[in-house]
Amino acid sequence: MFEWLQPYYKQLLQQRARLPHALLMHGAEGIGKHILAQETGKALLCEQPQATACGSCRSCRLIEAGTHPDWFMIGLEINDAGKPATEIKIGQIRDLCQSLVQTPQIGALKVALIHPADRMNRNAANSLLKTLEEPVPNTVLILVSSRPSRLPATIRSRCRQLRISAPTPQQAQAWIRHRYGDTDADALFAASGGMPAAAHIIAEAKMLPVRAGVFDDWSKIVLQGRDPLVVAEQWKDADLNWIFSWMIGWLEDMLMLKQSVEYTPLNSDFSRILRDLSAKTGQDKLFAFYDRVRRAKQLLDSSVNHRLLYESVLLDWAGIQTGRQQQSA
Ligand SMILES: [Zn+2]
Repeated sequence: MFEWLQPYYKQLLQQRARLPHALLMHGAEGIGKHILAQETGKALLCEQPQATACGSCRSCRLIEAGTHPDWFMIGLEINDAGKPATEIKIGQIRDLCQSLVQTPQIGALKVALIHPADRMNRNAANSLLKTLEEPVPNTVLILVSSRPSRLPATIRSRCRQLRISAPTPQQAQAWIRHRYGDTDADALFAASGGMPAAAHIIAEAKMLPVRAGVFDDWSKIVLQGRDPLVVAEQWKDADLNWIFSWMIGWLEDMLMLKQSVEYTPLNSDFSRILRDLSAKTGQDKLFAFYDRVRRAKQLLDSSVNHRLLYESVLLDWAGIQTGRQQQSA
């Protein structure tokens, strides 16, 4: 468990006898909320809980095996192509609510975790609302969200809210270094925006080479006139959410370099090229493009065609020097 989550964890377990029916854990993306929710749920179900779940009782072993009958994890379903769905659907929530009204089979409690809760579609949220309005005894529902404002107010108001703070940059850096060693630490810190759970995902999925490859091609669009559509094709299978997040970080570094040449880019592994790029682009255009990428990232949750969005962003990037910048989406 991350050190900055420990105080929350301790507090929740101390209150185990008077926990509310529904909890909403929220805070920035990538700080470990989901891990905190899972560990809390495990400890609540453990038959011999000490400071944490024991790891060896029947309940702990069943959770480990993924077969605990009173432990429910609801998330984005993975389709046949291995991609996550864009929303949590009503069928998932309806099944959950039906299971929750049953008596617990192992201990005295049932625990359900919904993550990311803000991805419930309207029908799913309405279905959950009924359960929140008529709480079933002996159940704890934990909703996890990085964007709680997207949840209906009716749901938020029926949960006890627990805001999880992000780690300090020093805590995040120390954890990443400790976990992944010195070689990749700076790149992981930059790639994750200093968010340890995000760094963990990037490391486990071995995405640092993807980041390096995308950066190389992206920078050459401006520095060497590489064709943006070829670059879009090259990286068509990479996760756009990450690519846009990284791009936003690179642009922030470039904007900071415009303010001061003394600035040390957060993406320190790309320092030299970021300096070149910053020198070759005008501040106003850079700001406009920065806004463009941030808007594009928000659009990824909508039904917009990702490939076309990606292409148009790269075309705008290619036009950043020549004044041919498009204004679309
Ligand atoms: Zn246990």
